[in-house]
Amino acid sequence: MEVVVTGGAGFIGSYVVEDLVRRGFHVRVIDNLSSGRYEYIKGIVDDGSVEFYNADLKNLDEDVRYLFKDVDIVYHLAANPEVRVSVSEPRVHFNENVLVTFNVLEACRLNNVKLLVFTSSSTVYGDAKLLPTPENYTPLEPISVYGASKLASESMIITYSKLYGVKGLILRLANIVGVRQTHGVIVDFIRKLRGNATRLEILGDGRQRKSYLHISDFLAALNTTVDYLIRSSSSYEIFNIGNNDWIEVDDIAREVIDGLGLKNVELSHINLTPDGRGWIGDVKFMLLDINKVVGLGWKPRMSSRDAVRRTVNDLVKSPANYYKLL
Ligand code: NAD
Repeated sequence: MEVVVTGGAGFIGSYVVEDLVRRGFHVRVIDNLSSGRYEYIKGIVDDGSVEFYNADLKNLDEDVRYLFKDVDIVYHLAANPEVRVSVSEPRVHFNENVLVTFNVLEACRLNNVKLLVFTSSSTVYGDAKLLPTPENYTPLEPISVYGASKLASESMIITYSKLYGVKGLILRLANIVGVRQTHGVIVDFIRKLRGNATRLEILGDGRQRKSYLHISDFLAALNTTVDYLIRSSSSYEIFNIGNNDWIEVDDIAREVIDGLGLKNVELSHINLTPDGRGWIGDVKFMLLDINKVVGLGWKPRMSSRDAVRRTVNDLVKSPANYYKLL
């Protein structure tokens, strides 16, 4: 099978690409390397398993459209994933997330692609009143432009699935963690502790509690849901992909401090909002109801805490990745 992975040089994307190659797919990666790193996929590009195209999906010119020709599945991961950026620069998120998704959908429509897989986000639920939050929760009221851009993208994907027969697999992800991360709370803490190993400044009151999933568990969930939708007669499906449990930001800080082998680090908190969020637009409590995907036979192997601990330990054990963060 011929597949395209947009954002395939990014954190999650590069693991998806490796996994697809392992399973015998022929992969074309489209990435403008705005946050992705070519070195993540260089090995498999060099040995001929993957074709890499450095292109910006904000422009759907003829050359880019041609890359979707004779493709069976498109994994659309290209995006700006920084919630904080979306609050200060909403247009960036409109362009990188909404416009890019529209262009990818158009490329799928014009080339008769059968299936589009989309990495949406738990942020579409905003401050959900029901935790764990199921896929059919309403009202969907995102509190960041990032969340709104994902919800707008979902809406277009659903319409394209019904109008043009491009099946849509929408995965609403919790926080995914793993060694190649270049953003997120673990990376933030490691960078700060490198600057000052005696005091760690935490954005918010530290009581924010969210669900974390290790990249290996994500890949298994991805394959389970793709296989399901290929066999199913539905035009689209939405799945929450997360963990059964959650972990507080202060506990993540302690895991990072322990993992780095530091002692006597003082935690300090900066409250930027009256209710102790990390920043405006930060959802303070996030736990997804994952019964739907568990019903397909998948389950997470690592808890939220284990996923965080494993990521920190792997980073420490792998200086090449660790130093790239700094
Ligand atoms: P990432 O920044 O590592 O990957 C995004 C990739 O998209 C990068 O390689 C970047 O260079 C590429 N890209 C961005 N704009 C592009 C453009 N205009 N044209 C071509 N390529 C472009 O982020 P990630 O954490 O790997 O996230 C991957 C996807 O998963 C994103 O859609 C993100 O919103 C979603 N997601 C991630 C998480 C998480 O915890 N990491 C949670 C929920 C959803």
